[in-house]
Amino acid sequence: MALSDIQTRIAEEEARMGRTPGSAHLIAVSKVQPLERVVAVLEEGHRVFGENKVQEAAGKWPDLKTQFDGVELHLIGPLQTNKTRQAIGLFDVIHSVDRPKLARAIARIAEEEGHCPRLFIQVNTGEEDQKAGVLPGDLDELVALCRELKLPIEGLMCIPPSDEEPSLHFALLAKMAKKHGFDGLSMGMSGDFERAIAQGATYVRVGSAIFGERDYG
Ligand SMILES: *Cc1c(COP(=O)(O)O)cnc(C)c1O
Repeated sequence: MALSDIQTRIAEEEARMGRTPGSAHLIAVSKVQPLERVVAVLEEGHRVFGENKVQEAAGKWPDLKTQFDGVELHLIGPLQTNKTRQAIGLFDVIHSVDRPKLARAIARIAEEEGHCPRLFIQVNTGEEDQKAGVLPGDLDELVALCRELKLPIEGLMCIPPSDEEPSLHFALLAKMAKKHGFDGLSMGMSGDFERAIAQGATYVRVGSAIFGERDYG
């Protein structure tokens, strides 16, 4: 089964790097996948899932959570400020904090709701125009704001440019996290999660290697 293959490869890479077993957590990225594939992975016992759109997640996970206990849901895609309340209601972890306005909205609404998801700041390490994430040069300021707002920032997240060696971006992200005293690193996807673990990833986000290719048709 693809899930157990990926789990094995993660364990092997942890061992190769001398890391604690289980220190690189697997987020199964279920976006766009047919429901039966998601249910199959839940039935295998996996509980940590990632979605990149609030609306799509809202359409399937409330139901699935009533059928399967202990689901931990991660938002790994960009978050529009006007969907903050819905995201806080749905997700245990948000990986895409990337601007002051969003940080302020999360702080305010989390206060009203009485709980806040765990958070990662997304960094646009490749400084790509089309990509979400705070620019590396603006990270210090955003971290300072998040600290002032007392947001539970656990670490940093990145999606390297598709045409560059991801290890360089993973290493850069690890260096920025260390500088700010963060332990969490959300990095690595189907094609590069082992390289991410080698650079210290605490969460890898793997979709197609577990579920099969996504059919956007
Ligand atoms: C879709 C997605 C993934 C998973 O991608 P695969 O290549 O299918 O593993 C990981 N991270 C983010 C942010 C994504 O949007």
